[in-house]
Amino acid sequence: MKACAVVVFLAVNLCTPAFGQTTPEPLSKTYRVTRANDVEFQKIEAFKVFDNLYYVGPGYVSVWLLTTPEGNILFDTAQEPYVDYVIGNIRKVGVDPRSIRYIILSHGHLDHFGGAAKIQEASGARVMAAEEDWKMIEQVGSRPGRGGTAAPRVPKKDIVVKEGDTLALGGQKLTFHLTPGHTPGVVTTEGITVYDAGKPYRAILWGGAGYRGGLDAAEESVTSADTVAKIQGVQVNLQIHSWAEPNGYPGGGVLERGQRLKSRTAGDAHPFVDPATFTQWVKRAQENAAKALEEERQKAKK
Ligand SMILES: [Zn+2]
Repeated sequence: MKACAVVVFLAVNLCTPAFGQTTPEPLSKTYRVTRANDVEFQKIEAFKVFDNLYYVGPGYVSVWLLTTPEGNILFDTAQEPYVDYVIGNIRKVGVDPRSIRYIILSHGHLDHFGGAAKIQEASGARVMAAEEDWKMIEQVGSRPGRGGTAAPRVPKKDIVVKEGDTLALGGQKLTFHLTPGHTPGVVTTEGITVYDAGKPYRAILWGGAGYRGGLDAAEESVTSADTVAKIQGVQVNLQIHSWAEPNGYPGGGVLERGQRLKSRTAGDAHPFVDPATFTQWVKRAQENAAKALEEERQKAKK
């Protein structure tokens, strides 16, 4: 901001492009929207975000690997054709896939759970999801894939996550909340502890905001946004997608913050430690949910 102010003072505002030029598209949007189907482009390099947390997913959907001294936890799995690449990334960051003990699925959409069956086989990990989304996963596995292709491989129903369940492993104590709306069984994980040069921070993984349409889902999404808003002390938001429609995550998504992390020098704040933006984000989600509910109520009246 300071640099912009100086430039404005000099009457040459470099912060907004001149007429005829377009603002470059945010990288996370290029991955999630513009080049979503460009398979090779999607295969970004895995990166270490905290002492005990890695990003090992493709560009459009997150896969987070949390390491502990007693085995590791994977949040989401991406989908084909990226699963071998995700497994390769896990190895590249120095982690043996067989050391993954749990795979926590944020929700029952294929882009998040589509790699779970293969990664479960490679690791022997237990797979966790909410009951309602286990049903979705089973349905996806029982129908042909896009364009009449074979049904996607899906994980066998394993651990059912319920509201308030906890998971303790290697110094982590995770707490799960059911925050439906986006799907009927979204799982949000709080109490993830990440370390930056040994200093702990509290992270959350909100398993999916917004709602899938309909009055019931709109009501669910209001309650779910309130549930997330009540979680105190969140310093790090592990986004399930770097780009959140329609405007992206304020201050940059996972990929933009990842770039900042790369060029970070001693004394710089950690770009993923950003409690203020998370609070603002949740507030916006609450407002959007309330608005959607009002619209659904109006529709129902007609
Ligand atoms: Zn989804």
